[in-house]
Amino acid sequence: MPSLPPLLLPLFLFFPFTYSRPFPDPLQHAKHPIALQPRLGNDTWGSFHRFLDLGRGSHANGLSGLKRYFARFGYFPEPYPTQLSDSFDARLEAAVVRYQAHLGLPITGKLDGTTLAQIMTPRCGVPDPIANRSNQTGPIERFTFFTGRPRWTGSKPLTLTYAVSPAHTIDYISRANIAAALRRSFARWARVIPVRFVESAEYEVADVKVGFYSGDHGDGEPFDGVLGILAHAFSPESGNLHLDAAERWAVDLGKEESQVAVDLESVATHEIGHVLGLGHSAVKEAVMYPSLSSRMKKVELRADDVEGAQALYGSNPDFRFSQLVESETSSAHRYALRGGRGIPRRGWTGAAVVVSMLMV
Ligand SMILES: [Zn+2]
Ligand SMILES: [Zn+2]
Repeated sequence: MPSLPPLLLPLFLFFPFTYSRPFPDPLQHAKHPIALQPRLGNDTWGSFHRFLDLGRGSHANGLSGLKRYFARFGYFPEPYPTQLSDSFDARLEAAVVRYQAHLGLPITGKLDGTTLAQIMTPRCGVPDPIANRSNQTGPIERFTFFTGRPRWTGSKPLTLTYAVSPAHTIDYISRANIAAALRRSFARWARVIPVRFVESAEYEVADVKVGFYSGDHGDGEPFDGVLGILAHAFSPESGNLHLDAAERWAVDLGKEESQVAVDLESVATHEIGHVLGLGHSAVKEAVMYPSLSSRMKKVELRADDVEGAQALYGSNPDFRFSQLVESETSSAHRYALRGGRGIPRRGWTGAAVVVSMLMV
């Protein structure tokens, strides 16, 4: 680690894992470039901090690694050459612009602090579906689907069974606690769409198969160790939902002290969105936003998530959209009342809800 002034060292140790920041705030990153130092326990993308402020025409050792990152997450529409150079060429610039558009960041085409901080944040392994878009460079404002808009079909009401692999699991959280976290995650989606999820003991025949896997586990999407890629799931009607066994999973962040702990319920809720057919959203507050910092809990479906799921399945007849808007407002109140760190930008949240309502 490079030497830091004594005053900044505690800030560096604390800042990347600030627990009560409910939403990543790009402006904060821009004000505190210290956050771009390598992150504890995450060697996967931590070294990218040295590319700060690079733009087209520059050259840096290891920049080919960043190109592989963009290729991995779908930001090169055409296949990239196998021999990647360390030059910041036009194609990399175009990829940076697409990434910024897809993640809801200011579009600069450069590796500014905001963009690099986002790139280094742990995320889902499912590529961002840029290929679906007619406008490749403008900002994306809401939910997306997989190519061809696949969804589960069957007699109504649609019922999907799910089970956790008895063989591919983790031993430091009880099966009962894993099951409880998953039950809450599935229930969030079931509340808004007419789909029932039923827990099953028959893993082999369950519609949705959940398992914890390490490294290369046979589906062509290897996991990468602590942080980096946290999980992935496949589009309908695959039902495979895989969590990286190398993470320090937590069902109660209040009791789990690890700085690299990842909230199981948050990641499961996100991956179930993929299982149902949703892609990634550019709305930062949405559960379907692709990244999630360690020690962050983000489980409440937002208007954007609900609209996406309902576009595929229709609405649960018992669900009222106004309840969601109310709960988004009241959760903003709760954060504000808590004070200090973690206060979300209420104006932004409110604006997002209003815009979503207008688009219905
Ligand atoms: Zn995802
Ligand atoms: Zn997998």
